[in-house]
Amino acid sequence: MSDKQTAGVHHITAIAGPSQENIDFYVGVLGLRLVKKTVNFDDPGTYHFYFGDEKGSPGTIMTFFPWKNIPKGRVGAGQVGYTTFVVPSGALQFWERRLNDFHIETEKETHFDEYYLKFEDPHGLKLELVEREEGPLNTFEFNGVTQDVAIKGFGGAVLYSGSPRKTADLLENGLGFEKVAEENMYLRFRSQGDIGNVIDVPVKAFPRGEMGAGTVHHIAWRADDHDDQQDWRQYISGKGLQPTEILDRQYFTSIYFREWGGILFEIATDTPGFDTDEPIDKLGEDLKLPEWLEQHRNQIENIVDPVEVREVKPK
Ligand code: ZN
Repeated sequence: MSDKQTAGVHHITAIAGPSQENIDFYVGVLGLRLVKKTVNFDDPGTYHFYFGDEKGSPGTIMTFFPWKNIPKGRVGAGQVGYTTFVVPSGALQFWERRLNDFHIETEKETHFDEYYLKFEDPHGLKLELVEREEGPLNTFEFNGVTQDVAIKGFGGAVLYSGSPRKTADLLENGLGFEKVAEENMYLRFRSQGDIGNVIDVPVKAFPRGEMGAGTVHHIAWRADDHDDQQDWRQYISGKGLQPTEILDRQYFTSIYFREWGGILFEIATDTPGFDTDEPIDKLGEDLKLPEWLEQHRNQIENIVDPVEVREVKPK
């Protein structure tokens, strides 16, 4: 039993191609809300988009670094293999039809007695949808996606580890997940939260992944607040891993560390959240910059392409 337990996934960050295509897919097709439009704090000439439920709740946040000319990466060991979104019971049929209307190829698969709809985003990121009862409905409605079918947030993720047994051990004895099942060389772990709470780890060797468009950069786990973050940092160091200093990400604080299977893990706080610099009803409308980048606003606005949230129609 682990001394500390995360509630589950906080956010997942991936690399995308052109920024407008990224927004059109995640908002226009998948019906998530753009809850923050900011820049990559480590590379302020590029955007950082956050998509989520109406409020940008932890456990619903898919984030992207979009780059216009980035070559496609390769999904493999040392990465998140699939990002899993959860939809209400009975919604999978709606999604199969909707994705096919948008000419997105889907594939059906069953694991652990659950049906999955698998597909890729326009830049090759591997996604899957699963129906589950748990987790509140997402009240954000856009472009034909209503709350009875809307993505509620993450179901979890499938981790392609370079060292699956060690990653499994860290999930169980470091992050406080419980191992709940094993089937066809897949291990399944569950956390206490009602969203972002199911992590699958295939116990097989994948060729090494390569970072690029269509790959996940890192997966972040939930901590409560800054005090809890300090405990986590000490705790993770005690496990023999090497977390970074606590970094201010404006909407949460973060530590990062590379786990034994090569995947970049982050721990991020639920507080202060996305309404720290704009009200809930205006989330994502303006380009938001942290104080230390505000002095470069003109320069930044000249570099990034203008983007908009808009309804898209099947072509
Ligand atoms: Zn992150």
